[in-house]
Amino acid sequence: MPKYNHKIFSKLPNVRTTIFTTMGQLAQKHEAINLSQGFPNFEPDPTLIDLVSQAMKQGYNQYAPMAGVMELREGISKKLEQLYGRRYNPDNEITVTIGATQAIFTIITAFIGHGDEVMVIKPAYDCYEPAIEVNGGIPVFVQLSNTDFKVDWQEFRSKITSKTKMVIINTPHNPSGTIFSKEDMLQLQQSLDKTDIIVISDEVYEHIIFDGLVHESASKFDGLASRTFVCGSFGKTFHITGWKMGYCAGPAELMHEFRKTHQFNVFSADHAVQKALASYLKEPQHYLGLNQFYQEKRNLFLEGLSSSRFKIKPSQGTYFQLVDYSGISQEPDEVFAERLVTEHRIASIPISGFNTKGIDKHLVRFCFAKTNETLEKATEILCKL
Ligand code: PMP
Ligand code: GLN
Repeated sequence: MPKYNHKIFSKLPNVRTTIFTTMGQLAQKHEAINLSQGFPNFEPDPTLIDLVSQAMKQGYNQYAPMAGVMELREGISKKLEQLYGRRYNPDNEITVTIGATQAIFTIITAFIGHGDEVMVIKPAYDCYEPAIEVNGGIPVFVQLSNTDFKVDWQEFRSKITSKTKMVIINTPHNPSGTIFSKEDMLQLQQSLDKTDIIVISDEVYEHIIFDGLVHESASKFDGLASRTFVCGSFGKTFHITGWKMGYCAGPAELMHEFRKTHQFNVFSADHAVQKALASYLKEPQHYLGLNQFYQEKRNLFLEGLSSSRFKIKPSQGTYFQLVDYSGISQEPDEVFAERLVTEHRIASIPISGFNTKGIDKHLVRFCFAKTNETLEKATEILCKL
């Protein structure tokens, strides 16, 4: 191949390969137990796979409607109304996307331009900042407290300027496994009152929440629902991260603008998978049973670690558990995580890369969306550290 022999003016000069890819590759190289990237190591319900194959045989192999299969949008609308008491019109307030990642990227692209400020709460999932920067926007960070991962709402308010166009929140929160309380949502609502700021509420772990805690969706709050895109992911809910299927829901005026970009960004998502999900979503137990399913895994993982030297606050939601390894080592988290995978063959995710200024509090994240056998093997090794 002849070389491209000219200068490249990168729009993302600081972006490197994601830590998920790096740790995943290290896990493979060292044949380690992979608790790094967030995905289940067990199979989805075979019924769902049969539904996709039936849809393909029935001929759903060409483009789906731009906004998504209507039956699926109706199912999403019904779920949101039953769970959060908010009715989204499937016709013009819900769009099916290629995972939550595409929903988030498209929302940012549709609304953020040069010099616009977007508030991001750190540590943050890694897809927000590059999407802001590639569109010329400026991420403005609010760091969660180091101990309990709470937002300082006074600091949050002090960072709102005339240039603030958008705020991104994520509850249940990746990577900390904490959730926003009702009080947090009310603080957010009040902080944005009398502004025209749009909110992205990343709620991909809405069905993975423990100990009887309640998911406070932005859709529950009038003053937030009227300015928010709520983003969901079937990948998390139905153990199908590789199918890349998600959605966003928001007020018709905002959704109208979103779709202008969406139709030229991807046009539409996989047709057969949408048909299958539309049928599968009709049974609420398929998503309501998830809390219990993952709570058992979290508990098994925590019990397994109870005699370890890690300091642990049980995860409140998501399928991630943060652990503090300062009782074992004072190494920087990236060094510790690398040693964990090369010497002990357990892959994790170091957290400093998700913080402002790379703050390192000696925390690594483990994903417990794994078979019980994998979790037992992993905790046995971790207890020896
Ligand atoms: N947001 C958060 C907080 C996530 O952890 C993920 C995980 N991949 C996503 C968004 C992206 O979801 P999807 O795989 O549906 O694109
Ligand atoms: N959401 C997954 C996690 O947090 C990662 C997905 C990805 O690799 N981009 O681990």
